Amino acid sequence: MKVLVATEKPFAKVAVDGIRKEIEAAGFELALLEKYTDKAQLLDAVKDANAIIIRSDIIDAEVLDAAKELKIVVRAGAGYDNVDLAAATAHNVCVMNTPGQNSNAVAELALGMMVYAVRNFYNGTSGTELMGKKLGIHAYGNVGRNVARVAKGFGMEVYAYDAFCPKEVIEKDGVKALDSAEELYKTCQVVSLHIPATAETKNSINYALLKDMPKGAMLVNTARKEVINEAELIKLMEDRADFKYITDIMPAANAEFAEKFAGRYFSTPKKMGAQTAEANINAGIAAAQQIVGFLKDGCEKFRVNK
Ligand code: NAD
Repeated sequence: MKVLVATEKPFAKVAVDGIRKEIEAAGFELALLEKYTDKAQLLDAVKDANAIIIRSDIIDAEVLDAAKELKIVVRAGAGYDNVDLAAATAHNVCVMNTPGQNSNAVAELALGMMVYAVRNFYNGTSGTELMGKKLGIHAYGNVGRNVARVAKGFGMEVYAYDAFCPKEVIEKDGVKALDSAEELYKTCQVVSLHIPATAETKNSINYALLKDMPKGAMLVNTARKEVINEAELIKLMEDRADFKYITDIMPAANAEFAEKFAGRYFSTPKKMGAQTAEANINAGIAAAQQIVGFLKDGCEKFRVNK
């Protein structure tokens, strides 16, 4: 069995070493396609691969057509919107992600960005503190849960809304579960976004939802840019001089945000949430283990194209 690691942005060497160890211990062969610059290189490399590990690399119908021997694709990371799930199902290819492996990294970044923002981006002026503030966690999944854990350490009052996670599960962590996104945004001065980008959530963070946030509101986005209605967020920030937007996913209208909202807007230059040595290693090794489990034992835990 041949397992291909196809990464435009490669894993750290220590992660590749860990992946190799897992794959070779199972008696499989590892092939690497790193820093490729052209889709043709990917199309060529996938020809005889039985399994592929990717990061943000695009797996579309053309790649799947070229990968005649392919049985499984694992996205080392949480979001899998870079894989055409319908095409994978049509090609009888299992797609998995590696949920939870980078959640702590993203949560630490979210809290780090909150501190940075309430301290006025370390510009030398007096800021405010997070302790005692109401934090709303929008979606209580792997990242949301870690944000709750860290935020409680800061002494924040933590609330959450999740459309699918039962309230008892949230409240067991000492977090107050609310019934709707509207209630969450009305209650909390700081909201940390952790919803996936789906047909339902795209553009869902809009003027109507944000307008009722308490005075001195801050929205922190480490999820996806697609969930934000950018035009309506710009309008809201024009109408509310107290509103801050802090994001790890640069908006399409970054230049406009930066120009209009200096001092209350910040974006990382590129997505950094999962960019830690630990997350990189964890996700890569989990991907290798999931491939071995699938190819040897047919284990489909973490399959996302049911
Ligand atoms: P997850 O799948 O563990 O959790 C997502 C949660 O969202 C689930 O609990 C689900 O019930 C909930 N949900 C789904 N639709 C909802 C809706 N309409 N309303 C409310 N809740 C809803 O995912 P995760 O690992 O916690 O990741 C969360 C987000 O962070 C995703 O958008 C992911 O792409 C993003 N992410 C970003 C980075 C980064 O580098 N910044 C890294 C990892 C993940």
